[in-house]
Amino acid sequence: MIVLKFGGTSVANAQNIQKVIAIINQKATNHPLAVVVSALSGVTDMLINASKKAATKDESYQNNLEEIKQKHFDAIAELIDPSHQNQLLIRINSQINQLQTLLDGCFLLGELSPRTADAIAGFGELLSSQIIASALQQSLPNSTFKDSRELIKTNANFGKASVDFNTTNKRIGDYFSGIKSQVVVLPGFIASSENGNTTTLGRGGSDYTAAIIANGCNASSLEIWTDVNGMFTANPRIVKQAQPIETISYQEAMELSHFGAKVLYPPTIQPVLKANIPIWIKNTFEPEAFGTLISNQSETNINPIKGISHIDNIALLTLEGSGMVGVAGSSKRLFEVLSQHAINVIFITQASSEHSICIGILNADADKAKEAIDKTFELEIAQNKIDPCIVEKDLCIVALVGENMKNHQGLSGKMFSTLGKNNVNIRAIAQGASERNISVVINEKDVKKALNTLHERFFEDNTKQLNLFVMGVGNVGEKFIDQIHQQKKFLKENLKINVQVIALSNSRKMVFDEEGISLKDWKVLLEQGETANVNAFISKTKDLNLRNSIFVDITANYDVAAIYDQFLKQSIAVVTCNKIACSSQYENYKNLKSLSRKYNAPFLFETNVGAGLPIIDTLKHLIASGDKVNRINAVLSGSLNFIFNNFSDSYSFHDVVKEAGVQGFTEPDPKIDLSGVDVARKILILIRESGYTMEMEDIENRSFLPKECMDTTNNEDFFASLLKHANHFNALLAEARAKDSRLKFVASFDNGKASVGLQFIAKESPFYNLEGKDNIVEFYTDRYVDQPLIIKGAGAGAAVTASGIFADVIRIGNV
Ligand code: ADP
Ligand code: ASP
Ligand code: MG
Repeated sequence: MIVLKFGGTSVANAQNIQKVIAIINQKATNHPLAVVVSALSGVTDMLINASKKAATKDESYQNNLEEIKQKHFDAIAELIDPSHQNQLLIRINSQINQLQTLLDGCFLLGELSPRTADAIAGFGELLSSQIIASALQQSLPNSTFKDSRELIKTNANFGKASVDFNTTNKRIGDYFSGIKSQVVVLPGFIASSENGNTTTLGRGGSDYTAAIIANGCNASSLEIWTDVNGMFTANPRIVKQAQPIETISYQEAMELSHFGAKVLYPPTIQPVLKANIPIWIKNTFEPEAFGTLISNQSETNINPIKGISHIDNIALLTLEGSGMVGVAGSSKRLFEVLSQHAINVIFITQASSEHSICIGILNADADKAKEAIDKTFELEIAQNKIDPCIVEKDLCIVALVGENMKNHQGLSGKMFSTLGKNNVNIRAIAQGASERNISVVINEKDVKKALNTLHERFFEDNTKQLNLFVMGVGNVGEKFIDQIHQQKKFLKENLKINVQVIALSNSRKMVFDEEGISLKDWKVLLEQGETANVNAFISKTKDLNLRNSIFVDITANYDVAAIYDQFLKQSIAVVTCNKIACSSQYENYKNLKSLSRKYNAPFLFETNVGAGLPIIDTLKHLIASGDKVNRINAVLSGSLNFIFNNFSDSYSFHDVVKEAGVQGFTEPDPKIDLSGVDVARKILILIRESGYTMEMEDIENRSFLPKECMDTTNNEDFFASLLKHANHFNALLAEARAKDSRLKFVASFDNGKASVGLQFIAKESPFYNLEGKDNIVEFYTDRYVDQPLIIKGAGAGAAVTASGIFADVIRIGNV
């Protein structure tokens, strides 16, 4: 005998029931079967809802009833040949009338007793099982229906009755030994008390019914047919990368289901465990998929963690005070009072000082529990020996489960550090004595982030998903997105980094997609997005609360540079090519660096100096290894270098500056480059990264621009002034020629002083031959005394800047 159980979605409608019938037919050729079915999807909720409405004098329960009725009649009409419908319709109609009578009774009395509530809730299975049995008889005449209430006997604890296994096993054994039918269809979830009243086995209890039947008839296996390909490494609705577990031990499965893996109702394993009956979890909609085998053997693969599960809606109750220390029986009294009020304790931790005890229960029980506990410890509370019980709601338990965890060190450390890195605050910790699970209590708002990041850490071969929130999609931004698009596959396969762009914004529009914006059509998606708004962007990013979030600033905007602190404080990393923040007031720069340390959120700005050249990274390594920077000489403006390299008798200064803009070498406002401000910002950042305190005003800027050019307020006027002062620039060129030298805009730092300005560079200087838009930096340090450490290469341009930003993102991925 094999026992099959089909859940609510599997029997949701006629179309799905046909799939179920096909599976039963196929199995029945080899084995006798007992088939346990749930109510049609959603019907139990509708019944419970209707009964509550009726009891509160809300007449709309009639609508629920009508809907329930229609659902079942629709199924009958589609599944059963009209010539065979009669008998069934009479029975179903009569049962719906009984249901109506019960609901009307609740309405009239304005009351719902637990006994009536069970009688009503059980109708879903009663109706579905009869319809399925009749439908099955059309293709398998040798099949029959049996009411589980005649087999499964329980106590009268309505809502979640306890099974009397002696009587039940005997009844099941007797019934099945005498049965001639190849297939017996039975309703799940319902049973009956000694007095013959309908009882139920708890929400999700049809799994349990099937296990009870399997145990009673000593089945060779139990198959739970549902809507997913087995028991997954985490809830597949929350963790997209979760995978079905092929084999798992009874204990592990029990632990996972106890901690919230809804695919299996926790008590299900108990009856089959003793009889050593294997359980298969299979998918009705993909019967060929392997599924999960639960048995007394666990796969001893390399990963000691089998799965991660979680329970929502948890409240923590803490009882503490000196009155608990060394006083025997405090915990006993605490648990006794909870048990008296039928409050289920899901989680317990006790400080070894015995000074406090902390328990996790369902939110819904929290107020009742506090009242009862405070009453029990009334005397101690009045004497200030124990504090009134503290309640914290809206929490969630997350548990790592695995039989082999006990043989591995450091798993809890890994768990806590993974959560900590993502700013998930752990409220309480418990580790089962069996070491089959480690569970933590966290805020409900963090659960998705926690599950995904833990899943990545323990199951995805250390693949890390980086979630990018990008502001600014101009020249550089566009290249950056193209590069991610191109490299996505490579990064995933080779570096185990999965880069997703979650948000994009320009100055007009913004678009968010939690699953990742398609990088093929990001332009269209952005155009269709909502109106851009920096504050809305920040709060959406925070609310999404995704793991490994990175804010990427590819603007040159003051307002955007002012919001980094808000991200860092949420442990969201910041990558920026915008120099404004790092060259603003020293206090602000320092604050951002310390927020980055405090919240463990990288703050990277390699592209602030020398675009994609690894200048800041090199400097960081020098300093970290104990070197000290004494002097810096540098050409840091790719745009100025391009301009002075191309400026000639036949190519006017004005035209060269224009061209530099077209090629994306200048800032959007070219005056920032030509005035020397951009270079001053860069040397300032290098000086600060070298460990010195300096402000922008401390840098001497020997600008080569005439005052009138400096005073312009827009690009048009600026270019006009360049034309007007052509002679001034030509004279500079002539002087350079006369001195047999070249014009270079040089930044230097020496002896605590910094300056930027145009210099005539003689042939002997390494700066003389600096071509195109190249940058060069010379670091003179304690270790590089005579010969400086030189970094040289392309220092401007959209593609190299984008690749520098990309490199910062990858640095974060590699942490
Ligand atoms: P049924 O109606 O068939 O009894 P349930 O809804 O009770 O189905 O259970 C199946 C659902 O359990 C899945 O659709 C999935 O969303 C959820 N689930 C939660 N955790 C897990 C897990 N670890 N593995 C598989 N499914 C899970
Ligand atoms: N129909 C019941 C419920 O929804 C039992 C089950 O489906 O397992 O809780
Ligand atoms: Mg279920």
